[in-house]
Amino acid sequence: MEAPASPVLSESQLATLAEHGEERTAKVGDVLYRVGDRSYPLIAILEGEVAILDAAGNEIVRHGPSKFLGEMNLLTGQTVFLTAAVTEPLRYIAVERDALRPLLFDDGPLSDLLLSTFMSRREALQRVDGVGVEIVGPHGSEATMRMVDFLRANRLPFTWNDAPPEEAEAPLVRLPGGTEMPAPSTGEVLRALGIGRELAPREEVDLLVVGGGPAGLGAAVYGASEGLETLVVESTALGGQAGSSRRIENYLGFPAGISGAELTSRAVSQARKFNARPATPYRAVALDPGNGRHIVRLEEGHEIAARSVILATGAQYRRLPVDGLAEYEGLSVFYAAGPPEAQLCGASRVGVVGGGNSAGQAAVWLARAGALVTLLHRRADLGETMSDYLVRELARYGVAVRDKSEIGTLHGDDGHLEAVTLKTGERLPLSFLFLFLGALPCTEWLGDAVARDEDGFVLTGGAAGGGYLLETSIPGVFAAGDVRSGSTKRCAAAVGEGSMAVQLVHARLAGERSG
Ligand SMILES: Cc1cc2nc3c(=O)[nH]c(=O)nc-3n(C[C@H](O)[C@H](O)[C@H](O)COP(=O)(O)OP(=O)(O)OC[C@H]3O[C@@H](n4cnc5c(N)ncnc54)[C@H](O)[C@@H]3O)c2cc1C
Repeated sequence: MEAPASPVLSESQLATLAEHGEERTAKVGDVLYRVGDRSYPLIAILEGEVAILDAAGNEIVRHGPSKFLGEMNLLTGQTVFLTAAVTEPLRYIAVERDALRPLLFDDGPLSDLLLSTFMSRREALQRVDGVGVEIVGPHGSEATMRMVDFLRANRLPFTWNDAPPEEAEAPLVRLPGGTEMPAPSTGEVLRALGIGRELAPREEVDLLVVGGGPAGLGAAVYGASEGLETLVVESTALGGQAGSSRRIENYLGFPAGISGAELTSRAVSQARKFNARPATPYRAVALDPGNGRHIVRLEEGHEIAARSVILATGAQYRRLPVDGLAEYEGLSVFYAAGPPEAQLCGASRVGVVGGGNSAGQAAVWLARAGALVTLLHRRADLGETMSDYLVRELARYGVAVRDKSEIGTLHGDDGHLEAVTLKTGERLPLSFLFLFLGALPCTEWLGDAVARDEDGFVLTGGAAGGGYLLETSIPGVFAAGDVRSGSTKRCAAAVGEGSMAVQLVHARLAGERSG
């Protein structure tokens, strides 16, 4: 494995950390934190050396003077995944998590350095076997696959043993530190790892945002910063679709591009800074419009009474209409291409299906990681659906493009793909498939509660029968981002709509007060 990122702190950054932390010493053999601990401080090394070990005691990396220890769980509060053992007499600065948070908001350059290092360390950890959560369960078990998808979407390091657990219902989940959970819910795992907020059975808020993608997080930042008591409920992972994007090249202010994970992690920190409350994993299952308070019911029986609601549930990937697809999903068929998938597919034949920018980005990313990539799409000319710069990148990284190609059959054994047959009858040897076939709106849970268009996207403004621009057919219930009929399916548009919806919430609430 390539060593996780390890930048050096400047003298002035060490001095800043010293002001917010405490200088300590440790002897050779001391353990600064270990797998399964509930929390740990940021550690900046002044003198000496520390080895970072996995749960089995294998060394991952060593850090010396001016380096720092820590990764994403310093921000999220997740259980510790690694052990830090002193290998040379140590003098260091320890900054506790509560002291670190305000510092990250106040010191831009230090915050950039720490955040991007935490992110790249997390990406590196996702590629290491034996770090994080262990899942035991066969790929034929729906509950196992739900758990695998969930941990992947939350970017948690995990190892998956594709076999039935002994004497327990699948999946058996083993936490860092060894605690075993037989067939837990995703919420139970997240909360056991120290992430995720426990909601009261009934909560009352000014603004409930349903969905924690760019639109929902945008609404949360603006809502909370403008004094609304704001709760965000998210069913899977904060960050939404954008969080799974390898690189967002067209988001304003990031000329070199930014990974979706980094952009959305920053957004989550920003929302928390303004006291918005993000709660995961909580799935909204029903909306009962009311007069003054709307009720949103959540999967585990919770009920949220909100003066205003912003629907920001986005859309979900379309699946390929072929027999036996489920058998391959998660093993050799994927809907996102992140570091673990790139690692898995190196030097293999890979098919990326779709003609949009997300397919293009995934194909380039996988090709750069050493896969032999063929991009398959339905139309005659890729330029009709993909940005020019990506079409050029495909050529640059040797991606073969096949126009007018649709998959008819999958061939393989036990979830391992060997080939596909196109509808023309041509057979292509492919070991992995990545599907980027567009999206369906996540609106089924709304039933008839709000007016939707024929594809299920939520109607707003004039199309919904009056009201404010982003208001649905129910006064006080707004829609923002990909879930909204006619919206531009882009991060910037989603964030913009989230912020705009908050202005309209204020207008609606003011109207109610004066009305
Ligand atoms: C691989 C990929 C690459 C992309 N690259 C780019 C790019 O380079 N540039 C760009 O501008 N755009 C890009 N996009 C598009 C961009 O990510 C989306 O337009 C944007 O994420 C939409 O934001 P959203 O908040 O409306 O919805 P989403 O991001 O879809 O977020 C919706 C959230 O709601 C949650 N949710 C759904 N149902 C429920 C429920 N019932 N209860 C609670 N929560 C629920 C979902 O879990 C999800 O987290 C990309 C998308 C993908 C998939």
